[in-house]
Amino acid sequence: MRKKQFKAESKKLLDMMINSIYTHKEIFLRELISNASDATDKLYFKSLTDTSIDTSALDIRIDLDKEARTITISDHGIGMTPEELETNLGTIAKSDSLNFKNENEGDEKMENIEVIGQFGVGFYSSFMVADKVEVVSKALGADTASRWTSEGADGYTIEPCEKDEVGTVITLHIKENTENDRYDDYLEQYKIQELVKKYSDYIRYPIVMEMTSQVPDPEKEGEYITEVNDEVLNSRVPLWRKSKSEIKDEDYNDFYKQKFYDYTDPALVIHSKTEGQATFDALMFIPQNAPFDFYSKEYEKGLQLYSNGVLIMDKCADLLPDYFSFVKGLVDSADLSLNISREILQHDHQLKIIAKAIDKKIKSELTKLLRKDREKYEEIFKTFGVQLKWGVYADYGMNKDGLKDLLLFKSSNGGYTTLKEYRDRMADSQEDIYYACGESEDKIALLPQCEAVKEKGFEILYFTDDVDEFAIQMLMEYDGKHFANILKDDFDLSTDAEKEAIQKKNEDSKEWLGKMKDLLGDEVTAVKLTNKLGTHAVSLAAEGYVSLEMAKVLSQMPGGDGMKAQLVLEISSAHPIADKLAHADAATLEKYTKILYNQARLIAGLTVDNPTELADSIADLMV
Ligand code: ADP
Repeated sequence: MRKKQFKAESKKLLDMMINSIYTHKEIFLRELISNASDATDKLYFKSLTDTSIDTSALDIRIDLDKEARTITISDHGIGMTPEELETNLGTIAKSDSLNFKNENEGDEKMENIEVIGQFGVGFYSSFMVADKVEVVSKALGADTASRWTSEGADGYTIEPCEKDEVGTVITLHIKENTENDRYDDYLEQYKIQELVKKYSDYIRYPIVMEMTSQVPDPEKEGEYITEVNDEVLNSRVPLWRKSKSEIKDEDYNDFYKQKFYDYTDPALVIHSKTEGQATFDALMFIPQNAPFDFYSKEYEKGLQLYSNGVLIMDKCADLLPDYFSFVKGLVDSADLSLNISREILQHDHQLKIIAKAIDKKIKSELTKLLRKDREKYEEIFKTFGVQLKWGVYADYGMNKDGLKDLLLFKSSNGGYTTLKEYRDRMADSQEDIYYACGESEDKIALLPQCEAVKEKGFEILYFTDDVDEFAIQMLMEYDGKHFANILKDDFDLSTDAEKEAIQKKNEDSKEWLGKMKDLLGDEVTAVKLTNKLGTHAVSLAAEGYVSLEMAKVLSQMPGGDGMKAQLVLEISSAHPIADKLAHADAATLEKYTKILYNQARLIAGLTVDNPTELADSIADLMV
């Protein structure tokens, strides 16, 4: 029998398969099963108009033979005539992957054989794991069958053979193990079971394999017998394809836990069907708890990507913006081809449309939850809210408008508030949205500056996350109102008359305030009398753009060493200490200055350079 040569381009792809160093060789099974499923679809379609076609048993079978080192995949699909075997398997009629490769010829990165391995490359992928492939096929309506055989690059043969039923049987002769690859694994039933579950779970036809298992012997207690049964490996109907009314909460919860390895039910399920510019089903989940590796570098965001029920990518990062990196789930679109590489995907127009729609969907579901189930929203926000705040800040604020109404902050009003709720509560006389930063809401509430603001009846947002102030700076304003940090030196709610009075007091006290400033050196930029501390004696306020809290965060970042806020030591003019300082002798002024400055540092949540000295000074005052 004459051996035929593969067409040039097919040979090239085949070479790449044979020599593939790609680690995801396992996708060969997905490719063959998808082909079998497509062929079965075609037969089924014909049966709609031709009632003589038997569609009673359209399963796809996998058989393993360890001794012969073969995997056999059989279908009852439409089959192939000898001519079709020739054209379909001897040539690559249309292969996105090869076109892509050709277009990019010369580009070094594309030359990399790895690239090809990331594709669905159809039938030829079988040569990644097999050194010989046989295809026996009988086409619908044909009397005879044919066998196509190839041992790879040197060509293939086609000969007539016997086969009773219509359909195709593909036998892969599995390669021997090498140093780097354990091909033996593909002859293990557990491995095949796992691969079918992973890639082909939602193929609509049953994928059947003979499974050997140990079961208790009904006759002898404590003993086991070996049982061999045909088992269906795939679950067939994808949950997300069912209509929502058919699905119970438990179904969603079980599916989530099993698929995304979580012990707890999801906090929110988002199931959507979209038609239009892009047609796709999406099933997404917001977990109750952050995944254990969420804050590590290893964490990869992304949604699973399916093309008509067949998995094409496990974590498609492009489908989720970073601020929704905690969302788990999948997208299934018929618009995406199975033969698509990661590289192509990144530029895929369709994928971009899907990603945009998904972003919008998650936002709208969260908005709905915020309105309808505040408690649940707050729970989710407690776990993942920081992510949304970073989203406002990141990318130069590109996404801030879509996210600002999803933010929650603690406030002096008690509990969480949205910016809109705060805005709605603002009095006409209130010019800005007020906030203060600190370690915890309790600590912020105790700050001297808060007292005066609250006394005037104004609400304060309590910022406790590092990112809060950065996010708000990026936001700049909300509904026409700017944000004001009440811990800043220039924050002042006094009337003009009060301002004038305090200015005069500062003028009159210039001498001793100046002395205090000199004693503190570079630690502060000024020492001032103020009337915004209520009943409290001292505090520190930041001057200029960088607030105390921002300085703390920035100084912890790489390269942020020595990042400092410019500090002003503020002394309450209404407190008796002001009078004491005005009349103190040089030694007392020095001692008091140090004590007051260090106390102000403690109030601001800063450390004190020499706590022992501070404690001693205060003790000295007591004796
Ligand atoms: P693709 O599936 O992307 O077209 P493949 O290389 O996997 O590329 O397959 C080439 C062609 O061979 C298919 O389009 C189909 O016509 C035919 N084919 C492959 N497997 C089968 C099968 N099991 N039954 C019938 N036809 C098949």
